[in-house]
Amino acid sequence: MNAPSSLQELIEALRCLPGVGPKSAQRMAYHLLQRDQSGAARLGRALTNALALIRHCDRCTNFTEQPVCELCSSPRRDNAMLCVVETPGDLLMMEQAQCYRGQYFVLMGRLSPLDGIGPRELHMDRLVRRAADGEIKEVLLATNFTVEGEATAHYISEMLRAKGLKVSRIARGLPVGGELEHVDSGTLAQAVIERREI
Ligand SMILES: [Zn+2]
Repeated sequence: MNAPSSLQELIEALRCLPGVGPKSAQRMAYHLLQRDQSGAARLGRALTNALALIRHCDRCTNFTEQPVCELCSSPRRDNAMLCVVETPGDLLMMEQAQCYRGQYFVLMGRLSPLDGIGPRELHMDRLVRRAADGEIKEVLLATNFTVEGEATAHYISEMLRAKGLKVSRIARGLPVGGELEHVDSGTLAQAVIERREI
């Protein structure tokens, strides 16, 4: 026997979430309908609202409800530095670390040719325009140290250097409080390669 069509549609819709297969989608749908109808209604409202209100910031492309987000319009930020990150979550991590007071550009992804994500999908043209606005003195690349994150950083650095911009990359290193014997050999090797004079 097939599930009623609205239930079937709910299960199908839940499968748009990353990592959710048919079984978990079914479990979620049953949970929402049987155990948490008010939670389900709230989820529905929140989704509709977010879809209607959330847009990309004109300057950094992060999610915002304004044309220009709060961070980009803050007078307390250093307008000479631009930090490039992959996701809004990475931006939050940078902010929580409280080590950076400049501006951001959020790629909303990373170069991944196999998934069809190229320079155009990441709005690299906007990044170039933003970095070459005359105020930015240095672009700090804070993409991840994955194969794709490294390739993305390399691509951006070539592109921006060709425009005469100063480009830097966050350093890899040992975790704070970390002991050498507990660190993977790749991280340790990189820490030696990127050593600095003291
Ligand atoms: Zn912004």
